[in-house]
Amino acid sequence: MSDEHAEIQGDLSGKTLGQYEIIRPLGKGGMATVYLARQASIGRTVAIKVMPAYFMHDPSFLQRFEREVQVIARLQHPRILPVFDYGEIEGRPFIVMAYMSGGTLSDRIKEGKLPLDEIVRLVEQIAEGLDHAHKKGIIHRDFKPSNVLLDENGNAYLADFGIAKVTESTVQLTGSGIVGTPAYMAPEMANQGLVTPAIDIYALGITLYEMLTGEYPYHGDTPLRVMMAHATEPVPDPCEKNPECPPAVAAVVRRAMAKNPEERYATAQEMAAALRAAVEGRAVETVEPTMLEATLMEADEGGEPTLLESAPAEASTLPPTAEAPAARRPAGAPTARRAATPPPHYTSPSVEAQPAPAARPKKRKKFPVALVGIAGAILLLVLCGGGFMLLGGAALLAPPTPTPLPTPTLRPTPTPPPPPTSVPAPVGAELRLENRSGRPVCYVNVSPSTDDTWGPDRLGPSTVIADGEDYLLTGIEPNTYDLRALDCDQNEIASRFGVAINMAGFTWTITSQAAEPGTVSLTVVNDSSYVICYVYISPTTDTTWGASDLPEGLSIRPGQQRSFTIEPGDWDLRAETCDQQTYWERLGNSISGDFEWTLTD
Ligand code: ADP
Repeated sequence: MSDEHAEIQGDLSGKTLGQYEIIRPLGKGGMATVYLARQASIGRTVAIKVMPAYFMHDPSFLQRFEREVQVIARLQHPRILPVFDYGEIEGRPFIVMAYMSGGTLSDRIKEGKLPLDEIVRLVEQIAEGLDHAHKKGIIHRDFKPSNVLLDENGNAYLADFGIAKVTESTVQLTGSGIVGTPAYMAPEMANQGLVTPAIDIYALGITLYEMLTGEYPYHGDTPLRVMMAHATEPVPDPCEKNPECPPAVAAVVRRAMAKNPEERYATAQEMAAALRAAVEGRAVETVEPTMLEATLMEADEGGEPTLLESAPAEASTLPPTAEAPAARRPAGAPTARRAATPPPHYTSPSVEAQPAPAARPKKRKKFPVALVGIAGAILLLVLCGGGFMLLGGAALLAPPTPTPLPTPTLRPTPTPPPPPTSVPAPVGAELRLENRSGRPVCYVNVSPSTDDTWGPDRLGPSTVIADGEDYLLTGIEPNTYDLRALDCDQNEIASRFGVAINMAGFTWTITSQAAEPGTVSLTVVNDSSYVICYVYISPTTDTTWGASDLPEGLSIRPGQQRSFTIEPGDWDLRAETCDQQTYWERLGNSISGDFEWTLTD
């Protein structure tokens, strides 16, 4: 990979890239090379990040890249590094962003511990940016000091939002390494692939520790050992390494880095406020991490470190993720007719508001809740021999633990943990879910065919597979299964019975089956050259458009189509481009069966 970087640098310095004149390389990261460039047309200095060419081997990469960059570009906030443009040069995708002359926070930490007042200021600035993104449903996924850029006055700007996500599956395809950065990876992301805003809070906790001490909290000679340490070792006390650190600050670090995402700060700004209070010696209400730490200690006493099942991160107090399903306006429900103002975007129902997916009629069998620990995974890796490569953020260390049916409670009931298992659960086959249904998938059942119940949801309360995305379930015991996928309103999207899953794994492409009884499907076909970000499906009796039926963060790109489930009736339709400057309208459609609406230039 380094040769390739060298080649890219050699190729691009001094070149002209459209309206950008590349001046010199600024730095190289894990994946890309960043250049200083000049945008000749307006005489501004910019930074251009160029991805390596191997991304082009994945045909869907550019599409995902473009979609993600469009989402990031909409993240406008004073603490988020502006993305100006994106494109492709000689088959290499690139992003054009604001140039920051102050280097990265990582460079700053390399110079040594930071003074407390600077740490507080930086954490506050970073927290503003992170919370803004989280409110928009965007999780950074790879937050770390090198993704915090500083201007000439040392103010922080967050960079690289969402890039981890788009590079993820390509990196898996190319087998070129680890996705995410082990030194900052929250335990639940490493072992269950759980991605919620809490992983960004965890990474901010690590960053705070580093700013206080000048070093990482956990060490290891391999990435796997580092991730093991995150999952099993207690949070070290930063004040042992920094005599100026008030003990209350250590409590802030402990809470931000709690193993259990439920026990972390709900927002980054809550953490920043606690940090300021701790530094200023004011009282701060700190809930000390308890449950998982306690269970880990118990396990420690038994010798082998065992990661007990952590409570799923119910993002109850947190905003929806980008992929979170829209609370689809019930067909026929009155909506507020939209005026010229930008459309009020969806907000997904919070976990509280969501009905528990309890109604599982036909089948009724429990899925064994296997406590698959990191120790088990390690054992298997040892058994498998050396030639193994760490791939993928999700399910990196251990298969996702099947999560019991979500309950509407916000906090897990502190039931005593089951005793540590001495025999590691088998690490089984993989089930790749490809959602091509036109709807987000919120619940997936994987139930042995001999069973007559569906058992618990395998995705857990905070995972949504957006349309067009893939998700890997691991740790499936080879067997014959019935599969079922539900949307976020618990409507069945598709099911398959009698699927044999062996160790080679299985791919299930989820496509919409016949719509629910009494509903029809409306398909918006985008034959135009614009990207569509808003679709309104509104009863003709209404004089308002209501909220967009296309979830925020999703779009219909040229050549793509997307289906919506609606009730037969009279509907007005409207589609808008992402900048809302161009729109299509079709009023008074009497829809009685499946209906297609094609947008053209
Ligand atoms: P990483 O993979 O560590 O996140 P990047 O590929 O994002 O790193 O960036 C590599 C280096 O390029 C950074 O460490 C930084 O020195 C420099 N850099 C990145 N973006 C900018 C920018 N917008 N302005 C100035 N320098 C930048």
